Amino acid sequence: MKFNTKTIHGGQEHDPAYGSVMPPIYQTSTYAQTTPGGHKGYEYSRTHNPTRNALEKSFASIENGSHGLAFGSGLAAIDAVIKLLQPGDEVISTNDLYGGTYRLFTSIFEKFGIKFHFIGMNNASNIESYITKNTKLIWVETPTNPMMNIIDIKATSSIAKKYNVLLAVDNTFATPYLQRPLDLGADIVMHSATKYLGGHSDVVMGALIVKDKSLAERLYYIQNASGAVCGPQDSFLVLRGIKTLHIRMQRHCENGKAVAEYLASHPKIEKVYWPGFKNHPNHKIAKEQMDDFGGMVSFTTKGNNYQEAINIVENLKVFTLAESLGGVESLAGHPASMTHASIPKAEREKTGVVDSLIRLSVGIEDVGDLIEDLKQAI
Ligand SMILES: *Cc1c(COP(=O)(O)O)cnc(C)c1O
Repeated sequence: MKFNTKTIHGGQEHDPAYGSVMPPIYQTSTYAQTTPGGHKGYEYSRTHNPTRNALEKSFASIENGSHGLAFGSGLAAIDAVIKLLQPGDEVISTNDLYGGTYRLFTSIFEKFGIKFHFIGMNNASNIESYITKNTKLIWVETPTNPMMNIIDIKATSSIAKKYNVLLAVDNTFATPYLQRPLDLGADIVMHSATKYLGGHSDVVMGALIVKDKSLAERLYYIQNASGAVCGPQDSFLVLRGIKTLHIRMQRHCENGKAVAEYLASHPKIEKVYWPGFKNHPNHKIAKEQMDDFGGMVSFTTKGNNYQEAINIVENLKVFTLAESLGGVESLAGHPASMTHASIPKAEREKTGVVDSLIRLSVGIEDVGDLIEDLKQAI
């Protein structure tokens, strides 16, 4: 089955009760038993729910994995991955990271004795010098948020394999339409399904996908034991979102390219971060591991003025000033004061998150309207 068919049919069956084409929203916490233990595979909805199971099968299918797991948020999914570890274990992570992931690692898990190294991974060989006998996990985000750095998944996975370390990839920005980390050697794919997979800015959810049965079982155990699951209604919404992922992504990519090129030609713009540009430092790797370049574009203005950036995001009319990304509607954000406010200024500036940086999630509206909007605001 090709990707564009998997988004619609992957892992799906018509409901056995009445043949409904979409799985019903099984809005139930529990399931009747005929005798103690006599049930039809479902006992309690933290453990299993048919609507969530349908979604988990779709997750596995679109990422070319064997097992999918759905969580109440992207961060809940990351939380479950870190719970595979023990005190004393070490994690090597990209330094240009979603702010909430950084906060989870440093303010929640460090106090339980897990050590995190945040490093630049533009050159994968840099990772090797941080590996110790305690390293258990490499955490990669690519493209990174919000600087659009590209990390070589294949090269990172060969390092992970050499030292017998797990490799997890946050695939939220690329989605499996553009990039399939499990095929490139990763062990775990993570999504904030809140973003492109859901695609309509109406649900918060997380996903994990793996290709190894015993790793899947350890994660299912954590999912049930820690309990950060999503409800059936939200499962239904994300399942519906995934059915149009391929056509939405195609338009996100087209519009993203046009917006990036417009900004690059604007005299007031200093830098545009978009992996499709030939002069992007890792354009070659992006071209190899991605099928297109996505709808996320960041830029800075000349003079790097904080207030000027605020004025631009406030003046946008078609773009909405908001956190988040990946919905059908275009959003603009100011990382320094919004998504990355929890990262200390000195730390964020090291990775390029300067005061004038603006991040765009280019939606699927008419691209002429989007460019006109940026023109009047800038
Ligand atoms: C939003 C996001 C997360 C966190 O997901 P939530 O669903 O908000 O918990 C993690 N990684 C990336 C890249 C994100 O954009």
